[in-house]
Amino acid sequence: MARILIVEDTPANMLLAGTILQNAGHTLLQATDAPLGLALAQEHQPDLVLMDIQLPGMDGLAATRALKADERTQDIPVLALTAFAMKGDEERMRAAGCAAYVAKPLRYQQLLAAVDGLLAHDVANDDATKQEGVGS
Ligand code: MN
Repeated sequence: MARILIVEDTPANMLLAGTILQNAGHTLLQATDAPLGLALAQEHQPDLVLMDIQLPGMDGLAATRALKADERTQDIPVLALTAFAMKGDEERMRAAGCAAYVAKPLRYQQLLAAVDGLLAHDVANDDATKQEGVGS
């Protein structure tokens, strides 16, 4: 179980992603634009951020770069949500600091697999650096 921030401006996608994650036992923080998402990330230090790439105003790539430039949030993994994944898009997402991406329309198993993968990776990193026991 993790605390996950979703930054998504389309209500149907927010509802779907939120339902999938809540059904898996996760706690949600939700923002409909990048500035609110950045503020919530700084204040609440979520375990993972789901970041829509296409947002009004500041887009998801710029928001991810801002998260990665701030020492308070730079270690939080970012999972990009994108309606398009054309040639070069994955490279742009990774260059901005996204750890992985999933394509819309969101699919239950695919989203959960990506989320679980990033959360497990994060725990493994914590164990390696802090020498904490399993289950902490
Ligand atoms: Mn959007």
